[in-house]
Amino acid sequence: MLTLYLHKPQKGVKDQIGANKSNIDIISDLENLLEKSSDSKILLTADDGYKEVLNLVPMLEYYQVKLIFFIATGFVQGKCYPYEMEISSFLEKKKFITVAGKECPLKTLNEKESMFTLIHGLVKPLTYIHRERFLNNLAIENGYSREESRNEQFVTFSDLKQLSEHPLVEIGSHCHRHLFLPAQNVNVILSELLKSKRILERTLKKRVDKIAYPYGGSTMRIEKIAKICGYKKGYGTHNQMEYSKMNQPRLNLQDAGNL
Ligand SMILES: [Zn+2]
Repeated sequence: MLTLYLHKPQKGVKDQIGANKSNIDIISDLENLLEKSSDSKILLTADDGYKEVLNLVPMLEYYQVKLIFFIATGFVQGKCYPYEMEISSFLEKKKFITVAGKECPLKTLNEKESMFTLIHGLVKPLTYIHRERFLNNLAIENGYSREESRNEQFVTFSDLKQLSEHPLVEIGSHCHRHLFLPAQNVNVILSELLKSKRILERTLKKRVDKIAYPYGGSTMRIEKIAKICGYKKGYGTHNQMEYSKMNQPRLNLQDAGNL
């Protein structure tokens, strides 16, 4: 079984511009691969909870291939949000931006990239509360709705409920706040693993026993904790060193295409 990971790797901060679209905008690459490997078993997986994944359903049906959709429940709740995505999608749409009363043009990709680097550099070292304050102010100054942007990016729980009833789709957990687990203490790891599982199980009225570790970050200790939390299978990324039932490898589309 070849497990594919539908997420284009981002090379650097600047690639974040447009990454929102390129992440899942891979249907034609995927179709080529499925066409080529119609005999071999392929399992598709997608992480985070992006709305674009809903567009994959007709392809799943055509090729009769299964998908596990791993959800970062905090993203879907709108309580936490990948701020890089928020900034880049905001810059993508705008022709100019006002920062601290100063208007800056955003007509070219270069201008957008430099502005992304600037804002990202300002926001990254901030604590969660200060970052929120900064982004709230930026939104107010530019007449932009942060909530609308979130809703545009991620599926809703009702989308998920409907999707989970599809025979070719399974919903898995991608933790709650999308933290890099190896850098967290045991209480945070437990809460991340349990919270998303509980939210999803309550919403879907189905057992959720598969996990994809955010950023592929896991250790044997984390895998043990995941097992105690009731997970039966875990998924990492293609470049991990060791494989086990709780840390299955996944290939991205590019690598799978080169097989
Ligand atoms: Zn992720």
